[in-house]
Amino acid sequence: MAKDTFSLPNKIKLPLITKSVKQNSIWVISSLMIVFLIFNFVMMLQINVYFKDTIDSKLQHEIEHIKFALIFQNDSLVIDHPREFQETDMVEVSENSFFLQVYKSNGEILFSSKNLENYEIIPVEHIEFEDEYYFKDLNIKYTGLRTGYTKLSDSSSNSTVFIQLSTPKIKMNEVVEKIIGLNIYLLPVIVFLFALISLFFIKRTLNPINKIINIAEDISATNISKRINYDADSNDEFGRLRDTLNDLFDRLEFQISQISQFSDNASHQLMTPLTAINTELEYILNKGEPKEECRESFNVIKFQTEQMIHIVKTLLILARDCEVCASSNKVFNLSSLIKEDISQSFLDKNIAVDVEKNIYILGEADYFRMVIENILNNGLKYSNDGKVKLSAKTSGNKVKIEISDNGIGIPDEEKNKVFERFYRGQQSEKDGIRGYGLGLSLAKLVITKMKGYLYIEDNTPHGSIFIIELPIVNME
Ligand code: ADP
Repeated sequence: MAKDTFSLPNKIKLPLITKSVKQNSIWVISSLMIVFLIFNFVMMLQINVYFKDTIDSKLQHEIEHIKFALIFQNDSLVIDHPREFQETDMVEVSENSFFLQVYKSNGEILFSSKNLENYEIIPVEHIEFEDEYYFKDLNIKYTGLRTGYTKLSDSSSNSTVFIQLSTPKIKMNEVVEKIIGLNIYLLPVIVFLFALISLFFIKRTLNPINKIINIAEDISATNISKRINYDADSNDEFGRLRDTLNDLFDRLEFQISQISQFSDNASHQLMTPLTAINTELEYILNKGEPKEECRESFNVIKFQTEQMIHIVKTLLILARDCEVCASSNKVFNLSSLIKEDISQSFLDKNIAVDVEKNIYILGEADYFRMVIENILNNGLKYSNDGKVKLSAKTSGNKVKIEISDNGIGIPDEEKNKVFERFYRGQQSEKDGIRGYGLGLSLAKLVITKMKGYLYIEDNTPHGSIFIIELPIVNME
C-alpha cells in the first residue's frame, strides 16, 4: 500500500467568521460590554459625588453669609443685613436660585426668601445632626433640590433656629442625562467597535492554529514524511499541538511503511508464480495440446491468471508509490501512444479517438498507458452501449484529455471516493459489474506523480467524463 492510501482531506476554504470565532467573539463582546457598563456606572457615581461636593460647598458658603446677616436680639431673630436677601438668586426663580427658610424647631417659619412665593412648598423639619452643616437631597416635584442645614443659637436664651437653604440640581441632572443619552446613542457604535476589535483579536489568536492546519493538510496531501515546523515554544499550546501532530505523523508513517513493505513483498512473491502459470498456459494453448473440450477451461484459467497478474502489478505500483513516475525524465509522444498503441488494443471496441498530433509529455509511457487503458475499460464496462470517446487537446502549456461515456455515471458523493483503494461504486456493486476497485486509484497516483490532475465530471444526458490535465513538453 502506498503512502497516500488514506483518503486525503480536501483543503476546505474556511469562512471568515467560523463557529468558534463567533462563539468566542460573543464572549469577548459580552465581557467588554459588562466592563463598559461598570465603567459608566462608576463614572456616573463619581460625577454625582463631584457635583454634590461642589453644590454643598456653594451652599455652605451662602449659609455662612446668611448667618452673618442674622442676629438674635432680645430673644428674637433680626435681619442685620437685609441686602443679603435682596440678591437676584434669592428673589427670582432660576436654576441658580437659593431658597431660604429660617424656622424654629417646632416648624414655625420665621423667615423665607422672596422667590419661595413663586415656588413649591419646601418642607421644613426638625433634623438632628452633629456637625455644623448637614446636606441632603430633597425631591420637590420634577426638580431635585440639594439642601443644606445649619443651626443658629442665641447663647443667652438658648433658643435655636434652623437655616435651610436649597438650590436646584438642574445642572447636575442635565450632565447625568447627557451622559446617559450619549451612551444610548453610542451603544450601537460601541457594540460594533467591540465586535470588530474582538473579531480582530480572536482571528489573530486562531491564526497559528490555521497555519498548523495548513501545514498538516499539506503533509497528508503530499508527503507523509514532512513535519510541521511551526515555530512555537514546546511549553505553550501551539508548540504542544505541533509536537502532538508530529508524533502522530511519525506513528502513521511507520505504520504505512510497514503496510507498504508487506504489500510490496506479497505482490512481488505472487508475481513470480503467476507469471510462470501464465507462460505454461500459453505454451499449452499454443501447442494445441488440450483436447477441444478442455480448451475452453484453459482459456478461462488464462483469462483469470491475466486478471490476477494485472491486479498484482497494480498493487506493486501502488506499494512503491509509483516513485518512478515522479522522477522520470523521459519524454513520450502522447498522440502516437494513443493513436497507435492504445487504439490497437481496443480495435474490436467502439472507441472514438480525437487526438491532436504530436503532444509530448514527461513521464513513463507504460504507466500512462495503464491509466488510459483502465479508464477506457471502465467506460466500456460501465455503459450499456459500449461507446467511449477519447480526446486530447492542448491549450497553453497543458493538455486536456477527456474520456467520456454514456454509462451509469458517478454520483457527486462518490466522485472523490472512487479514487480510494478498493472502493467500488454502489451502483456497480448493485448491478453486479465485476471489478476490484484499484484501477482509478492507480490512475490518480500516476497522474498526480506526473504533476497533473485527474477529476470526474458528469456527461450529458448521462455518464461520466474523466478529465486528465497534464503539463506538455515543448519540442520545438
Ligand atoms: P473497478 O472498476 O475495478 O471497480 P476502479 O478503481 O476502476 O475499480 O473504479 C472504482 C469505481 O468507480 C467502480 O467500482 C465504479 O463504481 C466507478 N467507476 C469507474 N469508472 C466508471 C465509469 N466510467 N462509469 C461509472 N462508474 C465508474
